[in-house]
Amino acid sequence: MMTTAILSILALLSIGGGIGWVRGKKQKRRAYLLAKPLPDEWQEIIGMDFIRYRGLPEELRRSLDGNIQVLMAEKYFEPCGGLEEVSLRMKLLICAQAGLLLIRLKQHGFYRKLKSILVYPGAFQDSGRRRFGLHEEEADSTMLGESWSTGSVILSWESILAGARNADDGMNVVIHEFAHQLDQVDGAANGVPILQQPSAYRRWAKVFLRNYDELVGEVESGEGRRSLIDPYGATNPAEFFAVASETFYEEARQLKMKQPDLYNELEGFYGVDPANWERV
Ligand SMILES: [Zn+2]
Repeated sequence: MMTTAILSILALLSIGGGIGWVRGKKQKRRAYLLAKPLPDEWQEIIGMDFIRYRGLPEELRRSLDGNIQVLMAEKYFEPCGGLEEVSLRMKLLICAQAGLLLIRLKQHGFYRKLKSILVYPGAFQDSGRRRFGLHEEEADSTMLGESWSTGSVILSWESILAGARNADDGMNVVIHEFAHQLDQVDGAANGVPILQQPSAYRRWAKVFLRNYDELVGEVESGEGRRSLIDPYGATNPAEFFAVASETFYEEARQLKMKQPDLYNELEGFYGVDPANWERV
């Protein structure tokens, strides 16, 4: 009896040690990738299409380069809808845009719930599976992107490329879906990601609700078209956070001017001030 108990304790200790060892190995690998310069070929591929990449301050670009390498190494990419393969260019443009959100974000775990990124050539039909996450629909019921709290993001190559090439039109499907991933990390997609300070939640809720209600009011009175934030954000608070994140990165100056309280919250959360980045 005694021996069994001791053996169980030893087994538990060895499992614990194993997990610790795996975690340590992962951290070491990440530290190595974060410090390693991005290969020239990768920089060229990204710079060709991702306009924002070229104009980033040097220090931030180095941080982005590290994020790109970690995401490239850790996420699984799956071609869908007749796409033969997810090419290096496709992977890099996804990781570069997704990595932008992590540049100064703390304790993000590199989208820790996310395992697979599924890529369709163009807009795709709703997968019809039981959805735990959120989805984006166009008027004709085809999809541009989906984010699942169960570990996947679905994107269309068309939207990935359009998002990279147009850095100031307020629309970026990769930013949108990965903002959902940040929101979903704590289990609930509710427009409230994990904030640094417990005291920050009250102000976040106040500012976000005020801006969300304003957008809902504009959409209901038929003035949604005039709002800076896409009317799709009026769907629910989770969509509002994802759409506001797109506006924050793509129309930073206008957002800072028109809705400074919302801009401040997003600046505090993401830790960057894109209104001061070079115009692209
Ligand atoms: Zn969404």
